[in-house]
Amino acid sequence: MPFLKSEHVMVKNIFLALGFTLTLIGCTTPAPRYSIDSTSYQATGKNERIQFIVLHYTAENDAESLRILTEARVSAHYLILKKPDARIYQLVPDSERAWHAGAGSFAGRSVLNDTSIGIEIVNDGIAPEYRGQKGYHPYAHFVPFDALQIRKVAQLVNDLATRYRIDPTHIIAHSDMAPSRKIDPGAQFPWQRLYQEYGIGAWYDEADKAEFLNRRTLVAPSVQEIKQAFRDYGYPMNDTDTWDKASRDVIYAFQLHFRPEQPTGEMDAETYAILQALNRKYGG
Ligand SMILES: [Zn+2]
Repeated sequence: MPFLKSEHVMVKNIFLALGFTLTLIGCTTPAPRYSIDSTSYQATGKNERIQFIVLHYTAENDAESLRILTEARVSAHYLILKKPDARIYQLVPDSERAWHAGAGSFAGRSVLNDTSIGIEIVNDGIAPEYRGQKGYHPYAHFVPFDALQIRKVAQLVNDLATRYRIDPTHIIAHSDMAPSRKIDPGAQFPWQRLYQEYGIGAWYDEADKAEFLNRRTLVAPSVQEIKQAFRDYGYPMNDTDTWDKASRDVIYAFQLHFRPEQPTGEMDAETYAILQALNRKYGG
């Protein structure tokens, strides 16, 4: 009789379910909480998440910089005001992403916000009377940084570079990673002094530069050869056969960093010699 049979099955199932529930109720010991053993084994395939330090100027005063970097959709890990005291503000923990880098790339890495620490320095950038002027700004258009600000930058970058074992060539300007969008921290940022006085970042050896300048051959290097040297160092340089606007933006960014007294956006022998000297020293 199918009806009775299925009824029998149903009753049996109810008992089974009841038994199961009773078993569950009777089981009062919870499963043991897992534990993390972080010392017994260690992987070798790993690297620091933070690989770059990107330096900026805010082009605003102290109050506006603080307001924008804490309230707007832009931020940085550290902020160095003009106010002459020993304080550096940390606005974002190192372990979290700050929104300071935006679109761009360096050393084959894009999305620099993921892998960098951003440091904003309060500085006017381009002096007000020169803002809005077309073309590349010369050295004299940039406003100098305060000595105390630079000392604080030096100490902070030194600490961060040591803590995260950051490659000297990965301590960069915002303009290095976004040459067509950004010119900060500009020509007055003392990269050479930071290297010479504090051992921070990358700088070329004068002897190498002189050698490359003297070595100039009768046959001028091709555009592609020079562009490749920029890419070797890490710059986001395109591979067109001309010095188009995007390429000149890279030249200008490079000069802001490594030949700040004469940033032109034009390719010349000294710029190429400096680039080659850097690639020789840092294996680009
Ligand atoms: Zn910036």
